[in-house]
Amino acid sequence: MDFKSFTYQGLPSRVLFGVDHLAVAKVEAQRLGITQPMVITGQQQSMLGSAINSMLGGSHWDGAKMHTPIVETERALSFYQDRKSDGIISLGGGSAIGLGKALAFRTDCPQLVIPTSYAGSEMTNILGETSESGKTTKRDVKIQPETVIYDPALLATLPAKFAATSGINAIAHAVEGLYAVDGNPIVTLMAEEGIRALAAALPKNDYKQALYGSWLCGTVLGSVSMALHHKLCHVLGGTFNLPHAETHAVILPHATAFNAPSAPLAMAHIQLALNTNSAPQGLFELARGLGAPTSLQSLGMLETDLDNAADIASSNPYPNPQPLTRKGIRDLLDDAFHGRRPNE
Ligand code: NAD
Repeated sequence: MDFKSFTYQGLPSRVLFGVDHLAVAKVEAQRLGITQPMVITGQQQSMLGSAINSMLGGSHWDGAKMHTPIVETERALSFYQDRKSDGIISLGGGSAIGLGKALAFRTDCPQLVIPTSYAGSEMTNILGETSESGKTTKRDVKIQPETVIYDPALLATLPAKFAATSGINAIAHAVEGLYAVDGNPIVTLMAEEGIRALAAALPKNDYKQALYGSWLCGTVLGSVSMALHHKLCHVLGGTFNLPHAETHAVILPHATAFNAPSAPLAMAHIQLALNTNSAPQGLFELARGLGAPTSLQSLGMLETDLDNAADIASSNPYPNPQPLTRKGIRDLLDDAFHGRRPNE
């Protein structure tokens, strides 16, 4: 093989995989020097947060919201300061983890993260936040969680539809990692293996294997730059308030079809991982087979907003394998809106 030179930037984190979170959380919090933890969950997972908080003796905030609205972060920050907290325990999907990261960015406190979805945020130094003017994203060393506990038992309560879309959200990180402008062979290994693990695990609800896949895919997201797919989902979620994982599930086959002509090697890795002859169609079939939504229309997007979405998504240039045009993006959105089967 002809190896090119490359840079691989590993992100430091301690991972405990396949363990009971209640059995290890206290000692892991102590290891990080946390004496007054603030446990963060969403409302739906409030009981799990209370359970861990009563064991750790800190305070509990169950107001995490999707897309990390800054106004909510400011309320949570006052709570953190009033209680003299000195560390975060986030338990939940990307929304709870996002709020924990937003507080860690503002206070530089340590984070212990217990993911309950496959979104992969726990493995990245990325924070997306929303205000009235849309969604902004930053990377910072303070955002990267120090310790992650992967407890597969927590995934068993995922509603089937969300398990499917969340798993495809993870796969999307790997797909874009395979053609990233700063991609490298280490990331490629993790990306192909992550797609393979998730595609095998999701149909049989094998939470342990799926979490392993999401860990790999999250690491890919944290290590290299994302392109058109993530940009579109960012616009659709941040400006049109579409749900995060569902939007990823709808867009992924279409963004992959768009990039396929300019990323043949990436397509070959996806095909190997999915055991299919066509990466976009393999991804479409996977989503459909899992019962994930396949159209933006079904997520409540208005057809009249597609032009605006295409304008925003094509306003700032960024690296993408296939050259980006406003028309190309608008056509992609039209296919995704109607849930058409993607072209090769
Ligand atoms: P989420 O965290 O909003 O969870 C969706 C719903 O599912 C919530 O009501 C939650 O309580 C519930 N839920 C989560 N896990 C559950 C479980 N095991 N059982 C039952 N219910 C459960 O959704 P998400 O898709 O995990 O995260 C989306 C957010 O994460 C978005 O804001 C997105 O921008 C962010 N994100 C950030 C990064 C990053 O690197 N910064 C990466 C991925 C996602």
